[in-house]
Amino acid sequence: MKFISTRNQAEPVTASQAILAGIAPDGGLYVPQSFPQFTIDDFSGEQNLSAIAAKLLGKFFVDDQLAEELPQICQNAFDFPVPVKKLDDGLSVLELFHGPTAAFKDFGARFLAQCFDRIATEKKRTILVATSGDTGGAVGCAFEHSSSAKVVILYPKGRVSPLQQQQLTCWGDNVTALQVDGDFDDCQRLVKAVFVDESLQEKHNLASANSINIARLLPQMSYYADTALRHFKASGQVANFIIPTGNMGNGMACLWARACGLPIGEIVFASNANHALFDYFAAGIMKSQPSITTLANAMDVGNPSNFERFVMDQAFAKNTSCQTISDQQIKQSIISVFNQYEQIWCPHTACGFVAWQNLPEEISSLHWHLVATADAYKFKEIVEPLIGEVISTPASLLNLQDRSSSFTSIKPQLSALAEVL
Ligand SMILES: *Cc1c(COP(=O)(O)O)cnc(C)c1O
Repeated sequence: MKFISTRNQAEPVTASQAILAGIAPDGGLYVPQSFPQFTIDDFSGEQNLSAIAAKLLGKFFVDDQLAEELPQICQNAFDFPVPVKKLDDGLSVLELFHGPTAAFKDFGARFLAQCFDRIATEKKRTILVATSGDTGGAVGCAFEHSSSAKVVILYPKGRVSPLQQQQLTCWGDNVTALQVDGDFDDCQRLVKAVFVDESLQEKHNLASANSINIARLLPQMSYYADTALRHFKASGQVANFIIPTGNMGNGMACLWARACGLPIGEIVFASNANHALFDYFAAGIMKSQPSITTLANAMDVGNPSNFERFVMDQAFAKNTSCQTISDQQIKQSIISVFNQYEQIWCPHTACGFVAWQNLPEEISSLHWHLVATADAYKFKEIVEPLIGEVISTPASLLNLQDRSSSFTSIKPQLSALAEVL
């Protein structure tokens, strides 16, 4: 299996090469040359998430140097529970926040770290990652004890929650946190700028851990496959997903899983007040916008980086839709979900719940899986006042506050970043 660039001006490469490169030399994003086709029976022997992941992802690693180690990579990366809970008639919740940093980013970050540790290199690698909140923490945590790489995290000043800030800045010597005087799009722009600068790239042996990296995207297909297969086995029906969306990494993974023939029907992207993607679905034109600060800050993206992958194939848009949700709606849904179901949700998951309530009539009677992306505790400053209760600390985060924390502040300029690298 080879990966090609969305801009078609780069040589096809293997999975490992695409993982190392992050972004393609022509500035595009790597996508699989074709989608392997699976039937439900192909997975009849696979019982758990990591076995399903190894089978599914195996086709993307055919002839790659990591092919043989893939089952072990999946086993090490996906070593935490992924419960699906029935909430109401027609609504189940796929909880992706039981990993070590309590957000779904753990899936991609842990898989990526497992891959990097197995791809040999002469010089120590520098992994760069721009984060709107949860990615940086997951990547820092996943690489904490890595001998193969150091990690540099860029995050926007004043736009992450106190707990996210702690999670970005507490991982010790080989993980550096940079607080950028700008927004997430500035962080992302800086990372892209470093990657097109050949001398910097060479000097630091750079690699990217952003959701543009296929080692982030591919593993996220696994929980969609697992959930859809289970649902099909139990009900004979395809699974329909509502996905809280920012950079579209999680959403693209679901589209890729559907493109591989897994039993997935409708896909709904739930955006917050950042409505570039919503506008695209409404008018067919993508106009990137300055990002707006919202309660669901991990989705404060004005220019979704995976959009290039979405428009590669017209089939992706079929049975796919998008909604934009206001902060007011997010607040109301956190309160109503708590009162009605005694569930405490993060603002991103709450955004998805509003999308479920507002589904158009043609598809509202289907059975839906709402993707829950983070533990509410990570956003307790927002959620606790709304529900009037203290949220208990998830076990995974208990020791976090005791760690010492440090960061460096930089201006949103390439020269400033080059200086600290
Ligand atoms: C990253 C993140 C999202 C958005 O995911 P994308 O892949 O960027 O679309 C949603 N919720 C939470 C909690 C996140 O951390």
